[in-house]
Amino acid sequence: MITAGPSPIQPDPTPQRWQQLWRDAVRDPRELAGLLGLDPDVLAISDAAAAQFALRVPRGFIARMRRGDPHDPLLRQVLPLDAEMQASPGFSLDAVGDGPANAGTGVIRKYRGRALLVATGSCAINCRYCFRRHFPYAEQNAAAAGWSEALAAIAADPGIDEVILSGGDPWSLATAKLAALTDALADIPHIRRLRVHTRLPVVLPERVDAELAQWLANLPWPVAVVLHANHANEFDEHVDAAVARLRDTGATVLNQAVLLRGVNDSVDALAALSERGFAAGVLPYYLHQLDRVQGAAHFEVDDARALELHAQLAVRLSGYLVPRLVREVAGDTGKRPLRALSDGNQSTAG
Ligand SMILES: *Cc1c(COP(=O)(O)O)cnc(C)c1O
Ligand code: SF4
Repeated sequence: MITAGPSPIQPDPTPQRWQQLWRDAVRDPRELAGLLGLDPDVLAISDAAAAQFALRVPRGFIARMRRGDPHDPLLRQVLPLDAEMQASPGFSLDAVGDGPANAGTGVIRKYRGRALLVATGSCAINCRYCFRRHFPYAEQNAAAAGWSEALAAIAADPGIDEVILSGGDPWSLATAKLAALTDALADIPHIRRLRVHTRLPVVLPERVDAELAQWLANLPWPVAVVLHANHANEFDEHVDAAVARLRDTGATVLNQAVLLRGVNDSVDALAALSERGFAAGVLPYYLHQLDRVQGAAHFEVDDARALELHAQLAVRLSGYLVPRLVREVAGDTGKRPLRALSDGNQSTAG
């Protein structure tokens, strides 16, 4: 294929629909409560938590929340609560060791063959359990230097055969900017696969527009798109359409979820997530144990309960609908599968 010529995708001077919807996200917890018919005073909203990591949620995602339900599983993922401000031993600012690994270029190289590119610090939604709440990723990312440092790091290492676009959310970047990156990556002969980690097709499905699909369809590598949905209710007809469009480009579409207390910590919720995802054309990939990030302790599910849920899920579902239950451990060579401790040591669920 010809890689030397200019990209056929040109920047669009008029703001696109997804960018308007992005800007129109709700940022005020009291407005969110009002939209859901909830009394803000009974929600335990924390202004201090919101000041530390702002509320941000697209209106289309709010439309999938149940009105009048303070325990709605989608609401819980985005609402700043008093519980976040309680100190919790063992919950730190850099739970997965990415601070040091990030080394300024925006390339994180922890696992064999794979280079993860912190493409941007932006997201359309702010998830309360995310390690991003503590990082100035807006300054430390690969796009900031016009990709040049990241490209040089990847080109210099023939051991890298897969590039993972991550963030933040890489699809928060304009498609022309993504195309500039992949045009340059196409000149690096050892790249064999491209992967994208993105929550946008779920939280702002309008992002999967014709221009993005055209870019994906024209890439010279097999592509995996790993979505992030934690609950079946995050899918609606707009998400279905976005996934269908991704699959039409030939991409393999997977999902990773985080096990979250009060959101998806039941076998019914996890089974429904796998089944609803599959109906949309998505296969489950990982179910992550929470990263122990300061402010997220109230979401934690202990390991014994996580293993019990996972075992029940494996009994209930077809094998291909059961995600791998893993934890990220700083210094490991890959995501670590959760395993039962030897019988004598097994902790009891609490
Ligand atoms: C999670 C992760 C990957 C991808 O791991 P897979 O098990 O292949 O999904 C790659 N690099 C880093 C730094 C990661 O955190
Ligand atoms: S979309 Fe992903 S990276 Fe962004 S806040 Fe949510 S979990 Fe974090």
